[in-house]
Amino acid sequence: MHWSETVARELIERKGLQVIETGTSISGIPHIGNASDVIRGDAIRKVLLERNADVDFIWVADDSDPFRKIPKGMAGLGEYLGFPVKDIPDPDGCHESFVDHYVDGFLSNLKEFGVEPKSYSATELYRSNAFQEGIETVLKRSGEITEILNKFREEPLPEDTVFWSPICENCGRIASTKPTGVDGFMVSYVCQDTEISGGRVKGCGFEGESDIREGRGKLPWRIEWAVRWKHFRVTCEPLGKEHASAGGSFWTSRIISKEILGWEPPIPVIYEFFTLNGEKISSSKGNVITLGNWLDICEPEVLKYSMYKRLKKQRDIKLSSIPALVDEYDRAERVFFGLEEGGDGEGRIYELSQVKKPEKLQVPYTLCAVLSQVVSDLNLDEITKRLERQGYRDYSRERLRNRIKLAGEWSRRYGPSYLNFRLIDEEKAEEAKEQLTADERAVLRKIADELDKDLGAEGLHKRIYEISRESGVKPSGVFRAVYHVLVGKDRGPKAALFILSLDPLFVKNRFK
Ligand SMILES: [Zn+2]
Ligand SMILES: [Zn+2]
Repeated sequence: MHWSETVARELIERKGLQVIETGTSISGIPHIGNASDVIRGDAIRKVLLERNADVDFIWVADDSDPFRKIPKGMAGLGEYLGFPVKDIPDPDGCHESFVDHYVDGFLSNLKEFGVEPKSYSATELYRSNAFQEGIETVLKRSGEITEILNKFREEPLPEDTVFWSPICENCGRIASTKPTGVDGFMVSYVCQDTEISGGRVKGCGFEGESDIREGRGKLPWRIEWAVRWKHFRVTCEPLGKEHASAGGSFWTSRIISKEILGWEPPIPVIYEFFTLNGEKISSSKGNVITLGNWLDICEPEVLKYSMYKRLKKQRDIKLSSIPALVDEYDRAERVFFGLEEGGDGEGRIYELSQVKKPEKLQVPYTLCAVLSQVVSDLNLDEITKRLERQGYRDYSRERLRNRIKLAGEWSRRYGPSYLNFRLIDEEKAEEAKEQLTADERAVLRKIADELDKDLGAEGLHKRIYEISRESGVKPSGVFRAVYHVLVGKDRGPKAALFILSLDPLFVKNRFK
């Protein structure tokens, strides 16, 4: 059974409306790692719907958090350190704020992944008093909450801790305010210098009062999470394993939800995170790939496929190895269409990853990268002809067109040098030919003779080896000769596949 089906079964036993909550911190650029939360949540939504359960699928932008670290390349935002993220301006100037800029992009990209949660802004939830009842309870029962939190802390919180971070009325920062007392709805505070992960935030010294009914502030994360569950009646929460470690926020929020707010906590769906090119994904370090970046180079279904595999395994997205991810997806496609035996529910994962009605493609991504560079104007009829010579006949033309565009973009940005080539002109080819031995030239002429025989890529590959044996020229020498006269380099795409992707007349003339 797929993990989403196990979760769905558990949820259905809980009965009633199922509310899946996902969320993303907007204190940096929302990236693929953030998206895995909501994309994975969507799989559970799909399975619940298949089973006729009532489902609500929500996403909350954590935009009331303090701006803690400056994303790489945005030094101009330095003065906003410690402000609520919601109050930072758009560095590109095209939206009202930083949050609007990134949330708009994130949600519209998610739509292309077929994922459309109801979206909320944490700031707006506070300002519209959605959490007021919860906040009042928290302030009234703060002694008990302190006790709960202290069970998980090495350095205990003082008994009179006030769980409300006001926004300073004078300077607008949220990281620098320290609550000093509470009287009814009013929390008094002082604005003072504070150390946060991205540096020191200067306090303005202001002493003021924050009326919780105005919602200009926020609850600490572990408490906010519980208040949100109660407010939205959340029954299912996907979360990264950093929240689920021993003493992690999920476990404390759970107790607060149950014991203080009287809401049965949601069923957690704990997942491992993604890394990018072997490193932690981080906007402050500039190691980021957004959903939009992904959509420039690959189909959304391929990323969904790798997110829907086993949850408890850390996965790396290596941009130079995108073809390997696509090959794995294509294998699952064969399993889904009954063309190959599968294991581990690959066909089901493929099905859950679909954005539209599934259509077969089965033209390898690397071949598409080659075709994108050898057919002028990406003429689809010409491409179809060349694919036919390699034995590809039954596929969705629309998907083909799209994959060729994506694979071409990928090879330009991240592809290995041998996949980035340009066919050399006659003059350069003449020079290359002069460097070949007589035997090598003879081999090329023999290969040219094979090109009318409709051998397919595998057949031609075999013939090249036979010709190499017959002529006493090592295969490595044959391949080098092929690449030298075509692209003027020692290496290139797999030879047989490459030759058959080119205009047949052109190759024949060149080899002769
Ligand atoms: Zn903008
Ligand atoms: Zn201040």
